[in-house]
Amino acid sequence: MVEVIIKKEACRGCQICADICPTKVLEYNPAEQLVSVKNAADCIACLSCTYICPATAISQQNFHSVKNFYRDLDFSVKAKRYL
Ligand code: SF4
Ligand code: SF4
Repeated sequence: MVEVIIKKEACRGCQICADICPTKVLEYNPAEQLVSVKNAADCIACLSCTYICPATAISQQNFHSVKNFYRDLDFSVKAKRYL
């Protein structure tokens, strides 16, 4: 199962990661002013939180990496036909 790791010392509590997570894995803790992992089992390893975190505080382990087709320029040109 994928493991989401948040470096507490790096987190600024901006909550962008919690807002972008499609499966509501991350939760803001107002007392600590930090985000923590609430529902690890629901993580789909989309890596959106990792890409968007301005503090590079989030990483994942044990996920199956696939090619990012949406970053493939040739594919993007072909996909424009359908947009
Ligand atoms: S995006 Fe990064 S800095 Fe902001 S709350 Fe999430 S882990 Fe913390
Ligand atoms: S990798 Fe995706 S699903 Fe998992 S915690 Fe981050 S945003 Fe949510």
